[in-house]
Amino acid sequence: MAAGRRTQRLMTRMPILLALALCVSTLPAQNRTVETYSLDETLKELEAGLRWDPFFSAGVFTLGDHRLAFYAGEPGEQGPVLLDGGKVLTLSLPYTEGGNLRFPAAFLAGVRGALSPIPDQGREREKSRFRVAAIIIDPGHGGKDSGALGTHTVKGKTLKSVEKDIALAVCGRLAARLRAAYPEKRVLMTRTGDTYPSLEERVTIANQVDLKENETIIYLSVHANASRNKNARGYEVWYLPPETRRELIDRDRYTDSVEVIPILNAMLEEEFTFESVRIGQFILDRFKETLGGKIPSRGLKAENWYVVRNARMPAILVELGFVTNPDDAVLMADPAHLKLFSEALYKGVADFVTEFERSGGYIAP
Ligand SMILES: [Zn+2]
Repeated sequence: MAAGRRTQRLMTRMPILLALALCVSTLPAQNRTVETYSLDETLKELEAGLRWDPFFSAGVFTLGDHRLAFYAGEPGEQGPVLLDGGKVLTLSLPYTEGGNLRFPAAFLAGVRGALSPIPDQGREREKSRFRVAAIIIDPGHGGKDSGALGTHTVKGKTLKSVEKDIALAVCGRLAARLRAAYPEKRVLMTRTGDTYPSLEERVTIANQVDLKENETIIYLSVHANASRNKNARGYEVWYLPPETRRELIDRDRYTDSVEVIPILNAMLEEEFTFESVRIGQFILDRFKETLGGKIPSRGLKAENWYVVRNARMPAILVELGFVTNPDDAVLMADPAHLKLFSEALYKGVADFVTEFERSGGYIAP
């Protein structure tokens, strides 16, 4: 039952796996020269869940509290398999045959052997180790870079809508709110005044936060939008599309096992994408709830924003509204309304933190 639930949970988060599982069939046993198992059999045998990336032929098993990353090799090939993001095992690699994954018996035995000496520390204790340790808040632009600008005439007065100022006002309050709610977490801002940290500096600030094992950081970049079309308005949230590859892994840590870096990257990539999407969904829900019909939702979108692409962590970019739209500009000039933005962002982040920490970092029970 545990395996079933775990598999179900993983399938919910990875439609790709569902598609794969549907096309997997079991080969007749007599055709096997070496004893192998189908995907279904392997999942049952190991009581594992699997996330599989067909493009990179790489996958990650979740076995209880452990994760095992591998790639598909040639039949009979020995290769590296990564346990819990650090320990490299050399095992007889899974391979694909007629589009189906096959797992050598020696692979299963190797996995079991590697896991057996690891003491069961108890699910509750293990779970409590997964936490969001830091939240990085990035008010877009700043200093010499004003970001998007809009000028409107409202009731006979000129209203200048400046992206960098809107972003900073919303982020300042958001940071204060998060610090009060989570005194044990590090809440960092990439800028606190009208300064211009470069995009590289912003990402470096985020990537330099020291993390313990099973701690995560989330990265939130806040912007205001602009369009040639003055009618364009509303808020939206961006995350990185799963097919975009990032250099997530610190190569120096794995100099002896360069070939596992792509696997580790694929593993983190999927994890971060899933988490980013969750944060985005929570924030959009809270925006809808907090802002009501005042400003429309443009939904969750995927794009290769630089700030987001290079952050080695779940990261999203929020566009609060359009400085080029008079209605949005008026709302974004109103301190009471900016407060609502901060509040909605705070609640969305808090929803994610609660879900992430409660689920033990999304590792299936
Ligand atoms: Zn911007």
